[in-house]
Amino acid sequence: MQIDIMTLFPNMVLSMLGESIIGRAQNNGLIHIQAHQIRDYTTNKQMQVDDYPYGGGFGMIMQAQPLYSCWEHICELRGGRLHTIFMSPQGHTFVQEDAKRLSTMKNFILVCGHYEGVDQRFIDECVDEEISLGDFVLSGGEIPAVAVADAVCRLVPGVLADESCFTDESHWDGLLEYPQYSRPEIWNGRRVPEILLSGHHANIAKWRRKESIKRTMLRRPDMFAEFKPADKQDRKILDEILNENE
Ligand code: SAH
Repeated sequence: MQIDIMTLFPNMVLSMLGESIIGRAQNNGLIHIQAHQIRDYTTNKQMQVDDYPYGGGFGMIMQAQPLYSCWEHICELRGGRLHTIFMSPQGHTFVQEDAKRLSTMKNFILVCGHYEGVDQRFIDECVDEEISLGDFVLSGGEIPAVAVADAVCRLVPGVLADESCFTDESHWDGLLEYPQYSRPEIWNGRRVPEILLSGHHANIAKWRRKESIKRTMLRRPDMFAEFKPADKQDRKILDEILNENE
């Protein structure tokens, strides 16, 4: 997997993606992340990348030319037109399903806007998809690009120790994860649920499934509305939860 990130602040994205799990995966050659300095593609002496908006108004707009030249260079480098994603508060909100979909791609480009935004003509010419991190406005696309790259890379086979690291997690199958505990057994007078110490794997699995369903029901009614019991045990668990709530 190769991710090319177009940005005015390469260090911002590289420093975060160079640490921990994603950093290790890069060192192991499982993923390749390259940041491209858009400013290197300017044609003016001042290496200016932005200008005032036509029609007036505050802020500066990133000009189409350096963005396009940078994008063209990356596509040439990779041997063809690449799926291009613009980080934007106007895009569709990023969810785990997007991470799954992107993790099956061989490569894609993430474009980080900055300042007031980006000349629409670059977006019209080169962008296939716009992704938002949520309904708020950040000063740049770097944090969203890091978030997307991280969420995608950890799904690439071999990056995490085992597939169950992510298939058991929140948002994989429409549920939130169950509560987790680690040593010691008693901390600040709070005990770890007895069942987790029992060593009885089937009972532990059932308890976790129930907690997972309960949490989703309480915290995310929108997700719970979509939840379909996977089997007889799920239906039993659901009955139990509903009876407890009566
Ligand atoms: N004027 C724009 C916002 C510009 S913010 C508007 O009103 O839509 C500057 C840049 O930060 C954007 O071009 C985008 O790349 C990035 N950005 C800001 N908020 C974001 C969000 N919620 N998700 C993804 N990218 C975002």
